[in-house]
Amino acid sequence: MDRKTFLQSLAVVPLMSSLNSLAALSHASNSFAPSEKMPVLFLGHGSPMNAIEENEFVSGFRNVAKTLPKPNAILCVSAHWFTSGTKVTAMQMPATIHDFGAFPKELFAVQYPAKGSPELAKMTEEILKPIQVELDDKWGLDHGAWCVIKHLYPDANIPVIQLSIDYTKPAAYHFALAQQLQSLRHKGVLIIGSGNIIHNLGLVDFAHMHKDNYGFDWAIESRAKINQWLLDGNFEPIINYDKQGRAIALAVPSPDHYLPLIYVLGLKEKSESLSLFNDKLLAGSLSMTSVKIV
Ligand code: ZN
Repeated sequence: MDRKTFLQSLAVVPLMSSLNSLAALSHASNSFAPSEKMPVLFLGHGSPMNAIEENEFVSGFRNVAKTLPKPNAILCVSAHWFTSGTKVTAMQMPATIHDFGAFPKELFAVQYPAKGSPELAKMTEEILKPIQVELDDKWGLDHGAWCVIKHLYPDANIPVIQLSIDYTKPAAYHFALAQQLQSLRHKGVLIIGSGNIIHNLGLVDFAHMHKDNYGFDWAIESRAKINQWLLDGNFEPIINYDKQGRAIALAVPSPDHYLPLIYVLGLKEKSESLSLFNDKLLAGSLSMTSVKIV
């Protein structure tokens, strides 16, 4: 190689690498190009064992996935990421978090290696302004997210970010915050709330874990009332759940598993329809009722 060619080759390297990063950049912005409007899901996640068991609820998750357009990415609001202030996971590769206690080691061995999306995290931070959103690099995917998303996308080929729930704020705040996320649905982002509408762990009837559609009287009453409000599009009593009497106070003893539903309802536009699936009571004091808005 003569001196001139050598110098030319040196010049080409930085040019090539800047071309590569330009290409990467334009690819990144194309990944959130305008899309048809994505549906919104609330998934009743139940026991972490649903990650590795076969049952009707897992089939329900798989079946609903078949009805969805392929998303560019997923934004998940999980009952298990309850923080002071709002955070969004912004790492390239979120870890699979095994945030539960006494379960078999097969469950601890499960990995869900979906990528993150720092770009979507940044977009989410922008559209939620003036709410301050912290870009987080410490969380990952908790079991509220991966135990259900695993059944929707078993190949882990859709990037996933999580948005935390600010536990210092009431349901009406979360309903309004969710409305600010609406534009993401037009960029191929599938928004999933993961919790359980009826969730009273202290009263679970472990002797009847496998009894079909089994709920205590107050759980039966709560399911009937909340389902009716959902199907009527009457969200005011759902948002003001803490003023609806004894049955619903027992169904929602703490807001963590309920608030992901509020996010999903905040995203429903007037012209859209709402349907239920996996709509069963479980072990007396839980419900697996899930919601699809399209
Ligand atoms: Zn849970």
